[in-house]
Amino acid sequence: MYKIGLAVIGIGIFAAIVFVMKKKEKEREQLLRDEMELEIEKAKKALFHEKSIRQEFFANVSHELKTPLTSIKGYTELLVQGFVKNEEEREEFYKRILAETGNMCDLIEDSLEISRLESREVSLKKTQVRLCILLEEILDSLKMMADKYAVTLHKECEPITVWADVNQMTALLKNLIANGIKYNRPGGEVWVYVLKQNGKLMLIVKDNGIGIEKEEQKHIFERFYRVDKGRCKKTGGTGLGLSIVKHIVEYNEGTIELESSLGKGSRFVVWLPLSA
Ligand code: ADP
Repeated sequence: MYKIGLAVIGIGIFAAIVFVMKKKEKEREQLLRDEMELEIEKAKKALFHEKSIRQEFFANVSHELKTPLTSIKGYTELLVQGFVKNEEEREEFYKRILAETGNMCDLIEDSLEISRLESREVSLKKTQVRLCILLEEILDSLKMMADKYAVTLHKECEPITVWADVNQMTALLKNLIANGIKYNRPGGEVWVYVLKQNGKLMLIVKDNGIGIEKEEQKHIFERFYRVDKGRCKKTGGTGLGLSIVKHIVEYNEGTIELESSLGKGSRFVVWLPLSA
């Protein structure tokens, strides 16, 4: 009788253990299912977000292309229909067509660069880049532009060599320096500093140009954002330069800071790992 009692208790305990284990397993399965559903929901949202960003980008590019195209169409029609007063005017129309074509090429190049950077499809060719030599080349290539805007360029460069993609470093510096020239006034100046600080590469591009209002500062890295739309017609920017700069900085795990005051000038500081 005693043995039977023990056996019944044993079976009871065993059954209880099995029951608890099965319950735990069910709970675990439910938890796993919940986690999976959450992940799927997150992925769906990310996909939707990416899709709407791409659609918005496509709409923006089309809109931006429309302006130069409309203008090219207008001048071409005037030329074809013979509505030109004299040779001088004909030449002027050709020049405007050429300038608008240039704007379209810039826009297409910048748009391609942005979508490459965003989709992380860039194939980097990292090499040893001697920054002072690169900076010299960039300043040389911007000399004509600086002369046109009557802006003087200055540089201070520590002899630093970084392991980086030369095209990215060029785009980064060129966009910042070109902006310092474009958004300046005759007699203005742009300073470029390349230095090593706290084990990092520090690039400073400073100008005493028109400056950027506090409220506008948080927007200027957005795609197609321009502070003064009218001025951009003259300077011919795409509104993508700083967005490209920000992408390159983030791609290389760096940071970018801006200090600016309206009417006094701007100072962009880029921090990059020395192996950028
Ligand atoms: P853009 O092709 O128009 O120059 P960017 O993306 O390079 O486009 O710059 C976005 C906007 O930020 C510019 O249109 C300009 O209004 C403003 N900006 C950029 N850099 C400067 C600067 N150094 N000084 C003043 N404004 C600037």
